[in-house]
Amino acid sequence: MADRRHSAVHQVALEHRVTVNDRYGVLGWPVGHSRSPAMMRAAGLERYQRLPVAPEVFADTVRALGAAGFRGANVTIPHKEAALTLASTASDAAREIGAANTLSFGADGSIHAENTDASGLLAALGRAPASALVLGAGGSARAVVWALTRAGADVSIWNRTPRRAEGIGARVVAAPVAAEVLVNCTSVGLEHSSTPFKDLPLEADGLTEYATVVDLVYRAGGTALIAEAERRSIATVDGLEILACQGALSFTLWTGLAAPLDTMRMAARGCQPETNAS
Ligand code: NAP
Repeated sequence: MADRRHSAVHQVALEHRVTVNDRYGVLGWPVGHSRSPAMMRAAGLERYQRLPVAPEVFADTVRALGAAGFRGANVTIPHKEAALTLASTASDAAREIGAANTLSFGADGSIHAENTDASGLLAALGRAPASALVLGAGGSARAVVWALTRAGADVSIWNRTPRRAEGIGARVVAAPVAAEVLVNCTSVGLEHSSTPFKDLPLEADGLTEYATVVDLVYRAGGTALIAEAERRSIATVDGLEILACQGALSFTLWTGLAAPLDTMRMAARGCQPETNAS
């Protein structure tokens, strides 16, 4: 009952902030796999859609979105760096990370860039850890290292290609080190594998070196990294929780309202039908 009342209040507040013609979307290439449309529609942004845009037409498409009625867009692989370069203004987080995952379009044609991947990770963790080991050195690793070091953590980074990890702002290590939190920012785990740890510098039993294991990767049925951590009773944060937390921050940025995080979590996990299937 309380949930239903909260949801009715949320809906009324949203109707004051989002007009029926306001459009939102997620820019990516490909983007068919994205769970953001289900999550954002469940939160009340009914005109939120997938925007599959090839890199060669990305700049022209983004510049046209505001005039086409878009108020905001999330940005995913491979466009996060390009999104930042197109913005007229950017937050410190987006500028310092060098990538944006959230764009807001002003009525005057302006584009503002934000990076909610960084704050989304801290929101999902619920606290700033004292130390962390980050696996990977791509776009998501840059946001994660930025967030964790800003929050005061001592951060080490491992990457398959070590030179890519240099200059990211963390201590580059050739082998895993113990830490409070382990964060997988590689794309390992996206595909199901019977030998999930062969591409990571870890053994499943080595996970007990970490109090919390975070996996940015998400896939139907969950990832082997999260399953192995849970088997050892280690606290976990999976990629869908990170997705929900960064999405909730984007929602608030666009609407000025607190996001219905539980509703978004359930929709991201496929536990709730989309409110609008178009
Ligand atoms: P990215 O920029 O393409 O970086 C990929 C990283 O994975 C690189 O460090 C790369 O190492 C490493 N890698 C790829 N294949 C590998 C292998 N076989 N063995 C070891 N390392 C390998 O990607 P990204 O944007 O950082 O995203 C990484 C993952 O996080 C993706 O699966 C993405 O979907 C997920 N993600 C999830 C969320 C969320 O909200 N849950 C948000 C952002 C990203 P090299 O440098 O050696 O190539």
